[in-house]
Amino acid sequence: MTERTPTGFKCLNCGKIHYPRHGRCLECKQREFEEVNLPSEGTLITFTQLKAPPSGIDSRSLFLGIIDLGEVRYTGQIEVEDIGKLHTGMKLTPHWKHVRTIDNRSVSGFVWLPS
Ligand SMILES: [Zn+2]
Repeated sequence: MTERTPTGFKCLNCGKIHYPRHGRCLECKQREFEEVNLPSEGTLITFTQLKAPPSGIDSRSLFLGIIDLGEVRYTGQIEVEDIGKLHTGMKLTPHWKHVRTIDNRSVSGFVWLPS
């Protein structure tokens, strides 16, 4: 695991922050953004267990949650032993790691763990 935090994309016109990046601002449709650091900790709003993950994912199920990062909310993968370890309002921290294998290549992404 590597220490790294998600990068948000702030619209230069209206200031709305996007994560992940969009081609156009969801608010004003402009295309110019600047990169901003997002918080290194988020709050779990809601979650679910995916029991049929896409191919290339090693585990038989995974947890997805909507994570509040202050100015943005996004859907992320959460790593815990079982769903009983998850509760709304808990704090989560992003970790950059292998998430999936596509065409024999390792693909990394953020996985959120309890803080
Ligand atoms: Zn905008």
